[in-house]
Amino acid sequence: MQQKFDAIVVGGGPAGCACSYRMAQSGLQVLLVERGKFAGAKNMWGGAFFGPTLNELIPDFWKEAPIERFIARQKLSFLSGEDCLSLEFAAPRFSKPPYNGFIALRSRFDRWLAAKVEQAGGIVAAGLQADDLLWDGGRVMGIRAGGDELPADVVIACDGVNSLLAQKAKLRGELRPGEVKQGVKEVLELPREVIEKRFGLAGEEGLAWQFVGGFTRGVPGGAFIYTNRSSLSVGVVVALKELMEKGIKANDLLEDFKEHPAVAGLLGGGKLVEYSAHLIPVSGMEMVPKLYTDGFLVAGDAAAFVVGTGLILEGANFAVASGVAAAETTIRAKERGDFSTRSLACYQKLLEESFILRDLRTYKKAPSFLNNPRIYTVYPELACEVAGQVFTSDGRPRKRTWDLLRAAMKDRVSIWQLASDLMRAKGAI
Ligand SMILES: Cc1cc2nc3c(=O)[nH]c(=O)nc-3n(C[C@H](O)[C@H](O)[C@H](O)COP(=O)(O)OP(=O)(O)OC[C@H]3O[C@@H](n4cnc5c(N)ncnc54)[C@H](O)[C@@H]3O)c2cc1C
Repeated sequence: MQQKFDAIVVGGGPAGCACSYRMAQSGLQVLLVERGKFAGAKNMWGGAFFGPTLNELIPDFWKEAPIERFIARQKLSFLSGEDCLSLEFAAPRFSKPPYNGFIALRSRFDRWLAAKVEQAGGIVAAGLQADDLLWDGGRVMGIRAGGDELPADVVIACDGVNSLLAQKAKLRGELRPGEVKQGVKEVLELPREVIEKRFGLAGEEGLAWQFVGGFTRGVPGGAFIYTNRSSLSVGVVVALKELMEKGIKANDLLEDFKEHPAVAGLLGGGKLVEYSAHLIPVSGMEMVPKLYTDGFLVAGDAAAFVVGTGLILEGANFAVASGVAAAETTIRAKERGDFSTRSLACYQKLLEESFILRDLRTYKKAPSFLNNPRIYTVYPELACEVAGQVFTSDGRPRKRTWDLLRAAMKDRVSIWQLASDLMRAKGAI
C-alpha cells in the first residue's frame, strides 16, 4: 500500500481540477488522477462557458488563463433550405471585466487548471487511469490505478459522462442512448484578422453562435460556431438515440451544416487542425444519480450536472461548482474525522443551496420538451418562410404577418399543436 491521501480525485476536467484546487488550497493532501497524458489531452467541449463560478474560485482567472476570447455577443439562427433568420444579443457590460462568458479550448484550459492544482500543493498524476475502487467492507477507501493500490479517506469521481467509478460504487448504471447527446466538433484555423472581419469582432471580443434547423434532419439538436483567437470551433450536438434509430452519423450532419450558404462563407479557407467527439449527459434531473456513499462523492458530468434549454448549454460551470461543493464537503468531513455516508450528506445540502440542483429542477421539463421534432423542422421552416415573405416585395398586395404565418402553417402544424408547444415551452424553458 502507498501513502494515504486525504482525497483522491479522479478526472482532470473542470470538476476534478476545481475540486482538487479547493482542497489543496485548504491544506488537504490531494492526488488528482488523469488518464490523458496531460489534463485536457482527451477532452472537448463546444467552448463557451459562463465565468462567475470559476471567478469565485480563482479571482480574475481570465488574466492568466488561456482564454481565447470573451463573449461579447450571443447569436441564435434558424436555418431552412438556403435561408437563415437570426436573433442577436449584445451588451457593452459583456465586454468589460469581470466579463460574463468566455471561449476556450480544452487542451490548453484544462492543462492550466491542473497547473493551478499543483501550485496550490496538490499532486497531479497524468497518464494514470483509475481502474477500480478499493473497498473496506461497504466503504470506499481508495482506488486501483496502473497496478497500484492508492488509499484515501475520500474518493471523488469527476471522471465524466461515462463515470466508471460511479458505476463501480453502484450509484448509477450504464449510460442509455436516450440520456445523452453526441457532440462532434472541428477546430478550423484561420488568420485572426479574417475571423474578426467575417464575424465583425474587435480586439478580444468573441461570438457564441447557435443554430437550429433542417440540417439535423429532424434529429433533436443543433450546431454551434465559437470564435477562438485564430480558429473557429464548429460542431453539432444531436440526440444519440434518434441518430441510432435513423442510422445517421453526427459527422454527416456537421458536413450538411458546414455547407449551408449562411455558414459556408464564414468557414471558407479554414484548415482542419482538430477533430473530436464526445457525449453530453442532457437528461437533466432525471439522470442525476445518488451523489455519495461511504468515502465517495460524484461531481460534474459524472453526476449528470448539465442544463440544456435549447438557448444555452451549461456544463462547465456546473462542473466547477459541484467540484467545489465536493471539496467543501471533504474539508468538513476531514475536520470531523468522519467520512461516512452521514457525514458526506452535507454534499447534497450544498448542492440544494447552490444553483446546481435548483437550475436542474427549474429546467426539469426541458429535456422532454426538446425532444419535440417540430422544434428542429417545422418551426425553423415557418420562421424563415414568413421572414422571407416579410422582407420580399414582388409587386403584389401584401398580407398581414399573421396571415402569412397561418398560410405557412397549413398542412404543417395546427393552431392547437402550436398553442400546445408554446404552453410546453412555457413550463420547460
Ligand atoms: C460537444 C460538446 C459541447 C459542449 N459545449 C459546452 C459549452 O459550450 N459550455 C459548457 O458549459 N459546457 C459544454 N459542454 C459540456 C462540458 O464540456 C462538460 O459539462 C464539462 O466538461 C464537464 O466537466 P467534468 O470535469 O465533469 O468532465 P470532463 O470534462 O468529461 O472530464 C473528465 C475527465 O476525467 C478523465 N477520466 C475519465 N475516466 C478516467 C479514469 N478512469 N481515470 C482517470 N481519468 C479519467 C478524462 O480524461 C477527463 O479529463 C459541452 C460538451 C460537449 C461534449
